[in-house]
Amino acid sequence: MNQEGTIFIFIGPPGSGKGSLASLCVKRFGWLQVSTGNLCRKHIAEQTKIGKEIDLIIKSGRLINDDLITCMVSEWLTENATRTSGIIFDGYPRTIGQAKDFSAILKSFFPNVRERVVIFSVSDDVVIDRLSHRIVCQNKECQTVYSLSMVSLDAVLQQKAFCRECGAILGRRVDDEEESVRKRLVVYHKHEQELINFYRDNKTDLVELDATKSIDDVFSSFLQSIDE
Ligand code: AMP
Repeated sequence: MNQEGTIFIFIGPPGSGKGSLASLCVKRFGWLQVSTGNLCRKHIAEQTKIGKEIDLIIKSGRLINDDLITCMVSEWLTENATRTSGIIFDGYPRTIGQAKDFSAILKSFFPNVRERVVIFSVSDDVVIDRLSHRIVCQNKECQTVYSLSMVSLDAVLQQKAFCRECGAILGRRVDDEEESVRKRLVVYHKHEQELINFYRDNKTDLVELDATKSIDDVFSSFLQSIDE
């Protein structure tokens, strides 16, 4: 990435729209997006050594250990950190340990890069409701997200619903079951404040978006925030 580029760090609970906003930014600006959740699911689908290790942890809604996740991010940066004016980190860092490691990694990759933290605010009830309607492309290279308002549940259950981006079959994520979502929310809230305080203390640019709004409204607020 060139030195005038920006690193965006998206912090928010599952289902808060981080991935959807990231996709819109990728389409509009040609930035790159990296979702550590997607990287993990790709490892599981490809049954790599890491994939076998993390499969159960993901299903149970717990976090993967900091070193492993940070290692995936470093690998991703080594392969992808080329010419782009922005990279969005969706769901990383998620703990204070990851945030500290990430700051060190960023310094080594892009010494003068600008960092911006975007916080997605939304209540747990909205998240639980949203995730009960979330449908995801099962192609691990794609993982485009849909809602049951866009796709028929019958078609999904009969495996006759297909992704508009890549044509692969659509389905539900195992960790979008309510029990797992509740656990993921507890885990998120456990680290949320410490993570935000870390960036506040480091005087990183921070913007909070009302993620209860529609994705178009969230996108407009985001665009406004980067213009300021
Ligand atoms: P997500 O797709 O962001 O909801 O992530 C799905 C799951 O992947 C999480 O519940 C964790 O088990 C794992 N995961 C993703 N990102 C991280 C991270 N930064 N740190 C630890 N675990 C992660």
